[in-house]
Amino acid sequence: MDFARAEANRPKVTVTEVGTRDGFQAEPVFIPTAIKAEVIDALIGAGVRHVEATSFVSPRAVPQLADAHEVLALLQRRAEAHVAALVPNARGAERALGAGVEEMVCFVSASETHNGKNLNATIAQSLANVGEVAQVAAGRPVALRGAVACAFGCPFEGDVAVGAVLRIAEAYAALGIDRLTLGDTTGMATPPIVTRVLQALGERLPRMRVALHFHNTRGAGLANVLVGLDLGVREFESSIGGLGGCPFAPGATGNVCTEDLVYLLEESGFDTGVDLDALIRVAQRVEAIVGRALPGQVMKAGPRLRRYDPAAARRATG
Ligand code: ZN
Repeated sequence: MDFARAEANRPKVTVTEVGTRDGFQAEPVFIPTAIKAEVIDALIGAGVRHVEATSFVSPRAVPQLADAHEVLALLQRRAEAHVAALVPNARGAERALGAGVEEMVCFVSASETHNGKNLNATIAQSLANVGEVAQVAAGRPVALRGAVACAFGCPFEGDVAVGAVLRIAEAYAALGIDRLTLGDTTGMATPPIVTRVLQALGERLPRMRVALHFHNTRGAGLANVLVGLDLGVREFESSIGGLGGCPFAPGATGNVCTEDLVYLLEESGFDTGVDLDALIRVAQRVEAIVGRALPGQVMKAGPRLRRYDPAAARRATG
C-alpha cells in the first residue's frame, strides 16, 4: 500500500471548537478577555480552522461572554480560521456583524419546555427571531447556521420526537439556512437515536449540511460520533479538554473533548488538519486557566505511540 498516497486521500472532517463559548459560558469566575483570545489563537495555531468563539446573547444573561466583541477584536490569528458566534436575535446579529464574524449560529430547542427555560420564549417565537436574524444577515458577507438544542432528548420532557427536530430543520431551510447543528445539550443521545434522527433528516432535507454537537454527559459522546461518521456526517463540534458544564450544577458535564475527538478521527483515517500534540498543550493551558482537572483523556495519556523509557518506569514488586 502506498502510505503517502493514502495519507493524501484521507477524507477531511471539520472539527469546530466550541470550548470558549459552550465551555467558558459556564465558568463561575470571569476569564479575562485577553486570556479568552489567547486560547482561541492557540487553538487556531494548533490547526483548528472552525471556532465558535463566543456568544452575542445579553450580557446580563451570560456575564462571562459580555466581552464577545473585544475577544474577537483581540485575536491575532483570526484570518486563518472561520470564526462563528451564537446570536439569539436581530440585536445580537447586529453586534456579531459589527465584530465581523464569518458565521452566525441561531438556536432553537426541539423541546418546548427547554426552549422556554433556555430562551424564555416558545419555539414559534424563537423561530420568528431567527427570521429576523436572517433578514439582518441578508446580503451581508456572513453565513447562517441553525442549531437544534435537545435534538436527542430533553431533561424536562424526556424523549424528543424526530418530527420535532424535523420541523425546526424545515423552518431553518425555509429561511435559506443550509447549515444545521444537532445539539445533544445534556448528553442524552445514543447510537440508535442518532441513527433515527440522521436518517429521517437525510430523507426530508438531503441538501442540509449537518454538524453534530454531543455532550459526553453519559460517556456516549465518541460512540455517537462514530455513528454520525458512518452515516456520512463530516462536521463535529467539541470543546478543548472536554470543558463545559457548570461546577454548581450536579450532573452537567462538558462537550465531547476536542483532543479525544481529533485522536479518534485521525486514528480512524480521517484528516482533521489539527496537530494533536499542540492541541494537548492548549488543553493543559486551559486546565490551568480554569483551575481544575478537565475530563479529557488524551491530554493525560498522550498520543497512542507515546513511548516511555523502561529504565524510568517503576518496577512491580510482587
Ligand atoms: Zn452544548
